[in-house]
Amino acid sequence: MIRKPIFAANWKMNKGPSETEDFADGFLSKIQHKTFPADIVIAPPFVSLAKAAEKFGNVSAVALAAQNCSEHNSGAYTGEVSAMMLKEFYLHYVILGHSERRAIYGETDETINAKMLKAREVNLRPIFCIGETLEEREGGKLEEVLRRQVSIGMKDLTERDLLDTVIAYEPVWAIGTGVTASAQQAQEAHAFVRSLVAEQFGAESAAKIRIQYGGSVKPGNAAELMACPDIDGALIGGAALEPQSFLDIIVNGS
Ligand code: PGA
Repeated sequence: MIRKPIFAANWKMNKGPSETEDFADGFLSKIQHKTFPADIVIAPPFVSLAKAAEKFGNVSAVALAAQNCSEHNSGAYTGEVSAMMLKEFYLHYVILGHSERRAIYGETDETINAKMLKAREVNLRPIFCIGETLEEREGGKLEEVLRRQVSIGMKDLTERDLLDTVIAYEPVWAIGTGVTASAQQAQEAHAFVRSLVAEQFGAESAAKIRIQYGGSVKPGNAAELMACPDIDGALIGGAALEPQSFLDIIVNGS
């Protein structure tokens, strides 16, 4: 089974519209006339999506993502943005269940599942994030945590939904810390996640779904991580804020 790798830049709360424009100009000049055997995704903050759509809207090599969406359609939810609203931008993906959303904003597996289903109603492709804390890993709870996150977070997805979903395995202790999981640790977790998908949706779907690794991915470690059989790309924070560094990860990893 050949799965096309997918490299996604998660900018988090960085880059307003003017910095988005600067990044886009730099990145576009570097990828001009090049093709990549990988999908490239950029997830700016909501307020920069219009600028990103203006810059990347007709660049087929780059797809855009939002970093979150509401589990509701519309109404009295101050500060929220619905999946349907996001569809008005040139947008293919939405990151859901990021560990920062879980830890800082109290998102539960159930909320994340509701968001996943809302995203699918408007055909957005979820980049569904899962991963354990250091405490959970050291307490022998890695498999239990991943099992819970996958079984609840992906509940009620159809076969079609599944094929449009990307899983991002991001050990929380590796996010923004400079500490990357070893290739062996990452591969073991990815293989386990794939086995969970097989239990829930069947072996055929499990073989097709792309599972990204995230957590301190850099140009220097991308190749080793991406060489693992169950790792199909990366979700990148800090190292994707600069065009050359993001591009180096894509090139080294694909
Ligand atoms: P990082 O973030 O690459 O800065 O560790 C990854 C993420 O949170 O998606």
